[in-house]
Amino acid sequence: MSQALENLLSEDRKFEPEPEFIEKANGKMGIHEEAAADYLAFWQQQALSLISWDAEPTQVLDDSNPPFFKWFSDGRLNVSANCLDRHLDSHGDQVAYYWVGEPGETRTLTYRELHAEVCRFANGLKSLGVAEGDRVAIYMGMVPELPVAMLACARLGLVHSVVFGGFSSEALSSRILDADARVVITQDGAWRAGNVVPLKANADIALSNTPGVEHVVVLKRTDHGVEMTEGRDIWWHDLVEGQPEECEPVILGAEDPLYILYTSGTTGRPKGIVHTQGGYLTGIAATHHYVFDLKPDSDVYWCGADIGWVTGHSYIVYGPLANRTTSVMYEGAPNFPDLDRLWQIIEDYKVSIFYTAPTAIRTFMKWGDEHVIKHDLSSLRLIGTVGEPINPEAWIWYQKTIGGGRCPVVDTWWQTETGAIMITPLPGVVPTKPGSATIPFPGIFADVVDDAGESVPLGGGGYLVLTKPWPAMARTIYGDDQRFVDTYWSRFPDRYFPGDGAKRDEDGYFWLLGRVDDIMLVSGHNISTTEVESALVSHVSVAEAAVVGRRDDLTGQAIAAFVTLRAGVEGDEALLQALRDHVSQTLGPIAKPKSIVFTDDLPKTRSGKIMRRLLQDISEQRQLGDVTTLANETVVQEIAAKSSVSTED
Ligand code: ATP
Ligand code: MG
Repeated sequence: MSQALENLLSEDRKFEPEPEFIEKANGKMGIHEEAAADYLAFWQQQALSLISWDAEPTQVLDDSNPPFFKWFSDGRLNVSANCLDRHLDSHGDQVAYYWVGEPGETRTLTYRELHAEVCRFANGLKSLGVAEGDRVAIYMGMVPELPVAMLACARLGLVHSVVFGGFSSEALSSRILDADARVVITQDGAWRAGNVVPLKANADIALSNTPGVEHVVVLKRTDHGVEMTEGRDIWWHDLVEGQPEECEPVILGAEDPLYILYTSGTTGRPKGIVHTQGGYLTGIAATHHYVFDLKPDSDVYWCGADIGWVTGHSYIVYGPLANRTTSVMYEGAPNFPDLDRLWQIIEDYKVSIFYTAPTAIRTFMKWGDEHVIKHDLSSLRLIGTVGEPINPEAWIWYQKTIGGGRCPVVDTWWQTETGAIMITPLPGVVPTKPGSATIPFPGIFADVVDDAGESVPLGGGGYLVLTKPWPAMARTIYGDDQRFVDTYWSRFPDRYFPGDGAKRDEDGYFWLLGRVDDIMLVSGHNISTTEVESALVSHVSVAEAAVVGRRDDLTGQAIAAFVTLRAGVEGDEALLQALRDHVSQTLGPIAKPKSIVFTDDLPKTRSGKIMRRLLQDISEQRQLGDVTTLANETVVQEIAAKSSVSTED
């Protein structure tokens, strides 16, 4: 990173926490220091106190073959027994999930009921002749049977690969083939925004070129008719019919695989990330416990992600259930039937902890406060965010409007590959600053380095790296160890490189700057897309912004911005000029966008992340790259049409 970037980054647009808070927090920093003093002892203690083992591990970390690290490798356990069985004696009647269907019906599942459903389904799977280690693809919507299917796989030592229900047949078949799945679990259709997504029909298309699949289990959720293939397809209700409500969990080694999950595809072809049993469960149980300050007897927790992403795996299914949490699970779209659906649910269930993504927060801002404030959200005590850098403006709106000004915000940085939250405040312990994910979780070690891998002094920016292994880390990319080494462990030897840029301020707080591939080089200055986007979003008229560096003969790269406006604002020439001036004032003239295109929406992955690389392709008039995870294709055409007539000076 150049000096120019450092100058730019150190521009003081930070929000200082109140001094009393820092004072209060300083006394409690103990857990970070304790973990730093002996991180292996810290993780061993988490593993032994949060997890039930059938054979307790004696070895914590095996680093004999880096980067293929192993954790707790002589430990033995079953993840589904940890999530269910061990809670039954004293808390069997506690609610595990309050489920809300999109059309309006509800279901309540206690731990005892969930356990029974998992056992019946696991027994059903056994009757199909599956064997430990077999891969099972799960292509479902947000229904209780999705965690049931995952936990049944975990119970039997089957490796699940959940494919987000919003994906196309093509995305499904490539994931089935990549993991060589023998079984596919799906449903007739899933409710989304008042329509039925025909999952089984999509799966049928995918299955036409996946000869390895022997069985397809189909849950009946809607009245959507489906075709069943004789000898291959079986209804869920027929499979579980007459099955006993007990099923002995298979005791597995800590390092046996638990699941494969593909990354979001924001930066290119998705990677099949492999997570294992013991280290993963330890990492997510510990982070879920501390980051959300979880009180299992009284909290009602709601993670609004889809289970098809890692956030759902770790913080809707495995982490919350391991910690005996009562969760809300919602099936459908946030704007169905009205724009206040989520706030209605929070009010109805008295949700105390809410976890969502910046893309959702910016959308709620755009929809307007009136949909929020008509509901009583006073039950909330903690709110979180994950998925992208959160613009300070959106952070403050979230804290004030959703959090009522009283809830701490936990901005959690992590990835599919890290399995668990890595950089995050701990509520009441680490003072927050809007837009900063603050500091690494206890027992996690991060640094910011320059091109040569040298640590950058506080106040500077560079590449984010994790400097020590951690329990929930990915073990490999499925079937491609070399890609695992090349992608994450080659850029900086002995350190994990997540692909993100970051800066650290004088307090040692981390500020995520987006993907390093997205960092722009304008007239010799490195400029972060995230910072320019946050500057744009801090303007009253702007709801959301995406920025890319477009090839420019004069300056190397020129900043091209794509902006969506808040409800009721008209995008005209005067606003365009005002936005350019606003960025110039906020970050300096060098960061001023050369072109700004107003658009109704931005190209996003199906998990809601802005796909800057497509905007760059458009800006440089190239063929679009991998679009298999793109959510909104028409938006790309709309932007492409507008870009060719965009204003410039
Ligand atoms: P792909 O790896 O296929 O390009 P992806 O990186 O979007 O897709 P995920 O694993 O879902 O796939 O996302 C992890 C990435 O999301 C992180 O590397 C980071 O860029 C971004 N991210 C997640 N949480 C935060 C956060 N709190 N602040 C900033 N960035 C975040
Ligand atoms: Mg990634």
